[in-house]
Amino acid sequence: SITLNHVAKHFGNKVAISDIDMKVEDGEFLVLLGPSGCGKSTLLRMLAGLETATSGEIHVGGRRVDQLPPSARDMAFVFQSYALYPHMTVRRNIAFPLIMRQFKWWFHIPLLGGLAKRRIERSPAVSELVEKTARTLSLTEMLDRYPRTLSGGQRQRVALGRAMVRQPEVFLMDEPLSNLDAKLRSAMRAEITRLHQRVGGTFVYVTHDQVEAMTMGTRIALMRDGVIQQFGTPREIYTSPANTYVARFIGTPP
Ligand code: ATP
Ligand code: MG
Repeated sequence: SITLNHVAKHFGNKVAISDIDMKVEDGEFLVLLGPSGCGKSTLLRMLAGLETATSGEIHVGGRRVDQLPPSARDMAFVFQSYALYPHMTVRRNIAFPLIMRQFKWWFHIPLLGGLAKRRIERSPAVSELVEKTARTLSLTEMLDRYPRTLSGGQRQRVALGRAMVRQPEVFLMDEPLSNLDAKLRSAMRAEITRLHQRVGGTFVYVTHDQVEAMTMGTRIALMRDGVIQQFGTPREIYTSPANTYVARFIGTPP
């Protein structure tokens, strides 16, 4: 589980996150929802340990996230602009986190490093995991292609694959679909929901889109100005909004 204890984040005298207490259960699909600037990305980055809280504590799986070295954080992060490596095939893009796990400094030496990386990529353990991941995301046919030859949705799936391949306990996603057109976005929504059902794990998903939140979340934290206005299931938030801000944002009929 992920627990936040009186977590705050200030940038100078700007309060981005103000005294948040929250508990995310294992296996949950939590959506952080709210308008631009309300602190969603800041909160997610703190969960990832990419940003330190000004005050308060964050525990992931019982351990303080800011005291864990990055390699010990069992989390995968998917950003809005999913940067794939253009000079690597889909297969290598997905395998990359596994290759980096075994990284040695001399991998930087062009020929020698290239051979070593290919050896890891071709090893049974790595290739099986990459192929299983590709099957889950319907990418099997595309493993030997380069990112520039893929559509936006296919690239997005590769980015998800790269996150999945480490088999993390926790997935953190920051508006991963905002670059896609409406049709692709709704297909990918369903895809991510399926991914959650299939692999289990705890998902924290940032969006400012209430439809996305209502259809994907097992629970929603609706934020405003660094404060959580309501934390509950989509149904709870829709049928009994905590205040008029929540009701307006969700579009509950008066
Ligand atoms: P969006 O939907 O536009 O991505 P958000 O909810 O993710 O918005 P954050 O990026 O978390 O919002 O930003 C919350 C507030 O903190 C904003 O007012 C932002 O300007 C401020 N902020 C974020 N990062 C920094 C920073 N590094 N330095 C100063 N202020 C920052
Ligand atoms: Mg953001």
